[in-house]
Amino acid sequence: MNLALLHIGIDDTDSKEGMCTTYVGAVAIDSLKSQGVKLEGYPKLIRLNPNWKLKTRGNCAIVFTTKVQKHQIPVVKETVLRTVEELAELHIKTTNPGVVFYEGERIPIKLRKFSKKVVQDITTIDEAESLAGEIGAEVHKFKLGRGIIGALAAIGNTLEHDWTFELIAYRKPENRGTPRKVDTASVVKMNTKTFPNTFGNLDPFTGEIRITPHTPCPILYGIRGEDAKTTLAAHKLVKSLEPIERFVVYMTNQGTDEHLRQAKVAEVKPYWSVIVGGEVSSAPKIILGGHVIFSMRDKTGKIDCAAYEPTRQFRDVAKKLIIGDKVVAYGGVKEKPELPLTINLEKLSILKLVPVLRKVNPTCPRCGKRMKSEGKGKGYSCKRCKIKVPASAAKLVEMRREIEVGAFEVPPRARRHLAKPLVRVAYPRREY
Ligand code: ATP
Repeated sequence: MNLALLHIGIDDTDSKEGMCTTYVGAVAIDSLKSQGVKLEGYPKLIRLNPNWKLKTRGNCAIVFTTKVQKHQIPVVKETVLRTVEELAELHIKTTNPGVVFYEGERIPIKLRKFSKKVVQDITTIDEAESLAGEIGAEVHKFKLGRGIIGALAAIGNTLEHDWTFELIAYRKPENRGTPRKVDTASVVKMNTKTFPNTFGNLDPFTGEIRITPHTPCPILYGIRGEDAKTTLAAHKLVKSLEPIERFVVYMTNQGTDEHLRQAKVAEVKPYWSVIVGGEVSSAPKIILGGHVIFSMRDKTGKIDCAAYEPTRQFRDVAKKLIIGDKVVAYGGVKEKPELPLTINLEKLSILKLVPVLRKVNPTCPRCGKRMKSEGKGKGYSCKRCKIKVPASAAKLVEMRREIEVGAFEVPPRARRHLAKPLVRVAYPRREY
């Protein structure tokens, strides 16, 4: 049989008012399956640069691979393009869908590199289009067709080093835009039974459920986990109080830190997400809105770090840093007019805390009571025993710091989709 692998990338189909590219993918996949088309592997949900200014919400694109006979290819393409045309929010100015088809067993190195760039940096429609031409990928642009960037990047992301899964359940059209009806207690139970093989689905500090979005999109809930089997088991434990139209298990780069790159301060650029090591160089201050800002430096320069208000208790760690503490900052880089570049903290490792020493008055060598100061540099005396000692008799005592060396992260409510939760570091994914 003349079988071919056809990779299909889709992006930029939604707007803030509705729709979701993962749903467009789900409908296209179901439609293809109903025509007897087989998928190779899991469909993938690829998160792109989280700092990209033109994203609608979570900057995601999707890709799936069909294993088809050559003669089926035109029908597959036609089904996908029709689905995008029917479902995409084409009437919204900022929605500019793109679909890319790429046929082949191997993903070219150039395409992988492009994919990494779209997750970690910024590119253009022209760059995507010329790469597609070079590697023989077929692009379909709707309106401006900006979505070909994400669609191509999704095809290029082979998820070889780290990956997670998300099972996404979708609402019936008549319920979209209304409050989501999911039994909270069942989500808590699901979390208790499946954590840490599922993660980020419940905020441990507030008990808040994190599986249901708050946007008018078709998603009812998404359950994040280490493997497909666990997300399916978790899905069975969650009680939905409204009908589920369909669901898809996506393999994804969520929770992998794929967006981060190691950098020296002087190398840091706006729109990047970085891992920068250095020492705290200015004391944390709390600014209007409850955001905590401090600066750190390495041998190449100085940069601000921010723990914004939505990061809640994470700010308490940042607040207690002092000048000289050795830290590693993880986060996206923001550029604001007239302000220095700022790392929007996602995680913070404290490597070393500088000791805080406090001068303590000496005790009386006779009665053992704390002696009184006679004034600056004039020594100490015990009034009762009439004993005097010089200023050098004072002791320097190391104070207990209110924070400890270790790794800290923002709570799930403020977490970027790509950020690797610390629980994934503590309990790495096991192979099944
Ligand atoms: P959602 O997550 O709700 O599906 P979104 O946040 O993914 O939406 P899109 O509507 O897809 O946002 O818009 C993002 C657009 O920016 C897409 O057209 C995508 O191709 C493009 N894009 C994404 N990342 C980059 C990047 N790093 N450089 C240039 N363009 C990008």
